[in-house]
Amino acid sequence: MSEVQQSKSTSVSEGETLVEINDLKTYYGDGGLIDSTPVKAVDGVSLEISRGETLGLVGESGCGKSTLGRTLIQLEEATSGEVVFDGTDITELSGKDLKNWRRNSQMVFQDPESSLNDRMTVGEIIREPLDVHDWKTPRERRQHVRELLDVVGLQPEHYYRYPHQFSGGQRQRIGIARALALEPEFIVLDEPVSALDVSVQAQVLNLLQDLQSELGLTYLFIAHDLSVVRHISDRVAVMYLGEIVELGPVDEIFSDPQHPYTKALLESVPRADTSEQERDVHTLSGDVPSPRNPPSGCHFRTRCPNVIPPDDIRISQPAYREVMDYRERLESGELTLNGVRELAAGAEKKPEEVDDEALEAELWDELFEEELAGENRATVSESFDRFVAGDRDGAIAVMADRFASICERQNPVLQNREHPAACHLYDQPAPSKSEEETEREVESSAD
Ligand code: ADP
Ligand code: MG
Repeated sequence: MSEVQQSKSTSVSEGETLVEINDLKTYYGDGGLIDSTPVKAVDGVSLEISRGETLGLVGESGCGKSTLGRTLIQLEEATSGEVVFDGTDITELSGKDLKNWRRNSQMVFQDPESSLNDRMTVGEIIREPLDVHDWKTPRERRQHVRELLDVVGLQPEHYYRYPHQFSGGQRQRIGIARALALEPEFIVLDEPVSALDVSVQAQVLNLLQDLQSELGLTYLFIAHDLSVVRHISDRVAVMYLGEIVELGPVDEIFSDPQHPYTKALLESVPRADTSEQERDVHTLSGDVPSPRNPPSGCHFRTRCPNVIPPDDIRISQPAYREVMDYRERLESGELTLNGVRELAAGAEKKPEEVDDEALEAELWDELFEEELAGENRATVSESFDRFVAGDRDGAIAVMADRFASICERQNPVLQNREHPAACHLYDQPAPSKSEEETEREVESSAD
């Protein structure tokens, strides 16, 4: 931790931990009647946030960033794990204790259009948290709101206006003033500039930075775009499907990204050059899988351009990716015999007229652009034979037997160092007993 701090900002009693997050899980819809599988929005996050630092949190939409931010300030109830502020696990608080604690932590939301109540004046909006907490006297509250207007760069006469009379950037300033009202230590900024024009983004980011150094604030700054967090963060955490997959000082995340997901995110940052834009199209293909049913092992493996083949086989990375994509489509049920039959029949034939040989040719055509040779080719061929014969389970087993990757058997974890990455390309700590057991379960369920 100390090294992290030395590499960047030297403000506010540095290095001291403000928030300690231990194996935090937030699931939605636990035990519902229709589908009892919960959405694992946050699935085992451990992190520390130092006093006075800005931790950037990035990842594609749906990765669980907002849920993590909301759980840290108890707008969402944790399913398990701890969030320790100054020695108190706030997931255990309730009633009056929780209400008192809430003053310490606030949130600024993404959308300045919908996050402010349009029937209240700006003054009322900013004053509301003070009223709720019965802060000092009404007179002092009004005075404090006027100061807050000034602090965020608004005018005293704005007190009596309504949110719709303001631009997006000004509305976000109102949201920030409201978040500051109770003089919190910690603020979750949930994509605070994503809805704003680029020119306005810079102004709001500058305001947030000024406020941080004046007031000694600690930020969790959420963004889906890495370029936004670059200038404001001390460290960056990269989140994928409920887990932190990489964490490090901001400069290192940009200059020396470790996780294939971080690399893909960096490459998908918009570029001016059109030839580069075309290359970027392929860097992060496909959608984030459902957090109800994340892939076994490494959650990113279904989209990863660097899946690790078993030691004893030789295969190029692009070919292995195709092998893994075929397995994924087979196992998920997306690939059906009828579907392939129709494809193979095309316009000329009826699906039922297509023979097995044509079906297999169609599969090769559809699924493999890369050359496969020797045993690799023979195994895929054997799998196709079984699939065409209607033996889907057999087709799956043949493939798993030869091609199963460490990436699907074991969920990689963050190493205990300044810039860890949860990826099997890097050394992994020896698995604990319980992890070994899970691995065995995954293996035996694949048989
Ligand atoms: P992000 O902020 O990274 O876009 P979210 O935390 O909003 O991600 O969402 C993570 C996952 O949890 C998504 O699959 C989303 O659909 C789901 N989710 C978010 N809020 C709820 C909710 N209130 N009820 C059920 N599922 C939710
Ligand atoms: Mg979000």
